[in-house]
Amino acid sequence: MIDDHAIRVRGLRKTYGSHVAVTDLDLDVRRGECFALLGPNGAGKTTVVEVLEGYRPRTAGEVDVLGVDPRRATRQWRARVGIVLQGTGEFEALTVHEVVRHFAMYYPAPRSPGEVLAAVGLAEKGRARAGTLSGGQRRRLDVALGIIGNPELLFLDEPTTGFDPEARQEFWELIRGLSAAGTTILLTTHYLAEAEALAHRVGVLARLGPAPGQEDGGRMVEVASPATLGGRDTAETVVAWDAPGGREVVRTDAPTKVVTDLAAQYGGEVPGLTVTRPTLEEIYLNMIGARGEP
Ligand code: ATP
Repeated sequence: MIDDHAIRVRGLRKTYGSHVAVTDLDLDVRRGECFALLGPNGAGKTTVVEVLEGYRPRTAGEVDVLGVDPRRATRQWRARVGIVLQGTGEFEALTVHEVVRHFAMYYPAPRSPGEVLAAVGLAEKGRARAGTLSGGQRRRLDVALGIIGNPELLFLDEPTTGFDPEARQEFWELIRGLSAAGTTILLTTHYLAEAEALAHRVGVLARLGPAPGQEDGGRMVEVASPATLGGRDTAETVVAWDAPGGREVVRTDAPTKVVTDLAAQYGGEVPGLTVTRPTLEEIYLNMIGARGEP
């Protein structure tokens, strides 16, 4: 049987002293999937990612990443995993090309530095000193260093924090390209639009406040596609239009009928017509808020 999972987690638990950061967490990420981990500050996203990367010991549970328990990470396994770190500023005096070439030496089968710089949109900046890059360009260099080893699995922890909208769009294109080429991606983000733009599935991690008989701690509230999370696909649709007496708003389970009736009533175009379902952000905030998140 072909195991199509890049990541499989069962019953993950992580405590810091008496503080339960993550509890009872299951997670499956398929090979080739882009999976976004969402959740409010302190929900445990970084903890989970660092356990998966093999940089943080866990308290309990089973973790399999590319067929290996990250607790027993080997050099060979590390070479198959890409991690996009926040730039350390350590290589400011080297050129961009030199930094990428330097990192390539750590891997058995690296991609070519020139190809990687082109992939992240830094082909023109190869001769620039790393210290002269803008914030967005620096982040692209971070991604270049994350993918130079040609990883099967890429971890991206809040990759576009601080980006302007244009840089974010360009960065998304870059990540989509990696995803389309078959790289499995685990992304954490606070931008719901980012999760929607990139992820095949999202998982919401949150501290719910314990139910009776349950302990407190970050847990997975739901895993779904961005389109169906929290019942989004079946949520009531809001139909609005400019009626003679002002804006009319109707909430309905049958938007097609409402719009057809309106079109008949107006004999064609309905003025100012909008038909909207809740955004992913609205669904997410409702999920987190409705469940007692402080
Ligand atoms: P953010 O969105 O703010 O990055 P997060 O979801 O990544 O948050 P974590 O950084 O994983 O959350 O933290 C989860 C919980 O564990 C928090 O309550 C945090 O204070 C606690 N925590 C994290 N690291 C440590 C540590 N080294 N020692 C003690 N507590 C920690």
